[in-house]
Amino acid sequence: MRYDSIIIGGGLAGLTSAIRCAEAGLKTAVISFGESSLTFASGAIDILGYHSDGSVVQSPFPAVAKLAESNPNHPYSKVGVDTLKQGLHRFCHHLDVAGVPMASQSEDNHWRTTALGSLRPAWLYQPGMMPLPIKQPAKGIQRIAIVNIAGFRDFQPSLAVAGLKQHPAFQQARITSKTITARELGLETRNPFELRSIELARALNHADNFQRLTNALGGAAGSSDLLIIPAVLEDSLGRSRIPELSQKIGCQIMEVASLPPSLPGLRIANALKRQFNKLGGMLIEGDLVEKGNFDNGRLVSIETHYNKDLPLYANHFVLASGSFFSKGLLSKQNRIIEPTFDLDVEAPSDRSLWASGKFLDSKAHHFIEYGVSCNQQLQPTRQGLPIENMYCVGSVLAGFNPVAEGSAGGVSIATGFHAAEQIIAAYQACAGN
Ligand SMILES: Cc1cc2nc3c(=O)[nH]c(=O)nc-3n(C[C@H](O)[C@H](O)[C@H](O)COP(=O)(O)OP(=O)(O)OC[C@H]3O[C@@H](n4cnc5c(N)ncnc54)[C@H](O)[C@@H]3O)c2cc1C
Repeated sequence: MRYDSIIIGGGLAGLTSAIRCAEAGLKTAVISFGESSLTFASGAIDILGYHSDGSVVQSPFPAVAKLAESNPNHPYSKVGVDTLKQGLHRFCHHLDVAGVPMASQSEDNHWRTTALGSLRPAWLYQPGMMPLPIKQPAKGIQRIAIVNIAGFRDFQPSLAVAGLKQHPAFQQARITSKTITARELGLETRNPFELRSIELARALNHADNFQRLTNALGGAAGSSDLLIIPAVLEDSLGRSRIPELSQKIGCQIMEVASLPPSLPGLRIANALKRQFNKLGGMLIEGDLVEKGNFDNGRLVSIETHYNKDLPLYANHFVLASGSFFSKGLLSKQNRIIEPTFDLDVEAPSDRSLWASGKFLDSKAHHFIEYGVSCNQQLQPTRQGLPIENMYCVGSVLAGFNPVAEGSAGGVSIATGFHAAEQIIAAYQACAGN
């Protein structure tokens, strides 16, 4: 089988590349083995949350421009702010069309609240997430009720209360935790072990159950200014039902992503897959790309676990296999490797440099910055030789620290979009000749 472009990995970076290629009319396939890290993500998109000295970024785009200038190896430096903005614009367009609109507070970051009650800077948010302003996060909020459903173990309100109380802005606020029972929601006949975010969302989407939830949360809200609940509500198309609930109860409601599966992260993953399919793309899930066949500085074809005898050919390839989390990178005794194609990786061989002595180091561990080494066009090398028809995108790339910087989503979208634009330009150049 021959394609114009094949993308290896179907996370945020891979799907961004794939959608852009398919949109431009290229015959495109995505091959992805497991769930991507969107299953774990908050569902907000970070562009740049922290400066290198650890201080919080208020306006991400000027800060990205500065970072790109001072750090030429950073993926943002290779891609540039304009491409980042274009990629984000297309990302928002596709999510909008797929029914999962994303919004921002103009050009500024906001605080998103985590399930542990800590605040992290982010740029894009989904309806129902309720962004808190960076300068005065607690403005107008004196009483907060954090509510869970008994039996739902992937969210612990007492931890969220303790976490939020630690933030200086919320020290004067009255923060309480409450639990509503499955019986109040008409769910008492269900096995309590079934109460995961996806099953709850399905059950609570029934009209009777949604009404019971509205009544129960209305009671729990009391005179609160803000109700915080885990993200367990959406309609059958994956659209958040928080705005509707908020209007019915007459209180501001904020949903926070629970432990995985994270419903807001899955909403993005499913919406991007829907868009890719709609544009005629071929999505092959559950198969692992195991090797590539190279010839004269080009990747000619790839072989997968289930189709070893049927190599897949393409003119261009994008590697979007993620970081250690998704096995896009692996650590050996004294080496970090890219396991599928054995691409050159930027990482010291001295293992003692990989991690800091403190497990919860606020600066994040160095291994997070390691990855495939690429040129300005995001093209990798293999044994020092460039591969001219291959691009690397997202967290498989070297040169950035998504945890310390709060930059994972932005880098994935910007690099995924940039790789696709270069593939499209190569086709346009051929067509013009
Ligand atoms: C716990 C967690 C929380 C996060 N929260 C946020 C957040 O709040 N905001 C934000 O902006 N970002 C967040 N992110 C990061 C965000 O999801 C990133 O954009 C992401 O980590 C990078 O995406 P990716 O597409 O490069 O890789 P991944 O999402 O890791 O996807 C890689 C995919 O490639 C597949 N794969 C790997 N090797 C192969 C192979 N050989 N053949 C076929 N398939 C393969 C994997 O199975 C996986 O599906 C979070 C990430 C994690 C891990």
